[in-house]
Amino acid sequence: MANIQKPVIVVHGGAGIWRLDRSQAGLDGVKKAAETGFEILKKSGNAVDAVIEAVAAMEDDGTFNAGYGSSLNIEKCVEMEASIMDGKTLQAGATGLLTDVKNPVRLARIIMEKTDHVFIVGKGAEKLAKIFGLERRNPLTERRLEYYEEQKKLLKDGKFELRKLRDLVENYPELFKLETVGAVALDKNGNVAAATSTGGFPLKFPGRIGDSPIIGCGTYADNHSGACSATGVGEIAMRLVLAKTACNLMEIGKTAQEAVEIGIELVNKRISNNYNHMGLISVDIYGNVGAAHNSPNLCWAYITPEKREPVASLSAKIVK
Ligand code: ASP
Repeated sequence: MANIQKPVIVVHGGAGIWRLDRSQAGLDGVKKAAETGFEILKKSGNAVDAVIEAVAAMEDDGTFNAGYGSSLNIEKCVEMEASIMDGKTLQAGATGLLTDVKNPVRLARIIMEKTDHVFIVGKGAEKLAKIFGLERRNPLTERRLEYYEEQKKLLKDGKFELRKLRDLVENYPELFKLETVGAVALDKNGNVAAATSTGGFPLKFPGRIGDSPIIGCGTYADNHSGACSATGVGEIAMRLVLAKTACNLMEIGKTAQEAVEIGIELVNKRISNNYNHMGLISVDIYGNVGAAHNSPNLCWAYITPEKREPVASLSAKIVK
């Protein structure tokens, strides 16, 4: 384990297209989240606390597809999911199908620390949230409702990106009964952690679970390599076990930046869907930062001791 005194935090507020009317709110939100996490690291706090608080800040923001402001599924309901991984112990916690837990990432931590399991969803997860007195909040926002209507129209007009969903809705119209956040950190003791939280893909099928709560796909951290959080089309990160793939690359000596670029190259080479938008952020155990995507945008920010102030952007290295 590298024992270095250089705390680093990297956060993302989702890949995809960041429209001009929302981009300032996105940049402000990732900066605030990076500052929240870095404050903890500066005071010798650990990487797990840093990524939890950074992700919780974005879950509360209302700008992102996580916590308050989560995307709606095809039945116009919210089903949130999140995960956390501690690179020191390789302990992990994940949750999904949450309707009103204010901070899904805090429930993921409870699952990691207070149960013998890694992944608890639905009713059981809600029960655990109740036992531990987690705050509840209706995650619905006006903006998400408007977005839902826009996406629904695209779907009905046959212009939605997910082709099989388009076909399903065409054949079964009764289905119409009617942006993800993440953080990776390295603390002063050389420990890494990663956390990811999402409302999931807009118009997803009820019960669908994406990459964000799946350890190795949306989230991975290991003190032997580094930490990675993914955003984008979850089904792609799941099939390529993307976060763990990036960590494997860091373990064999690639820098955080090289690892995420190779990860996105892999998406481009191996996945033939037209819609294969993905973004990755990472930190390696030497404190190097990485961010890459093949989507038009990636809203992200990072802080290192040299920078002090958060560096935020709507794009990183675009890998085509
Ligand atoms: N990866 C998330 C999912 O597929 C969505 C996102 O990153 O915005 O659920």
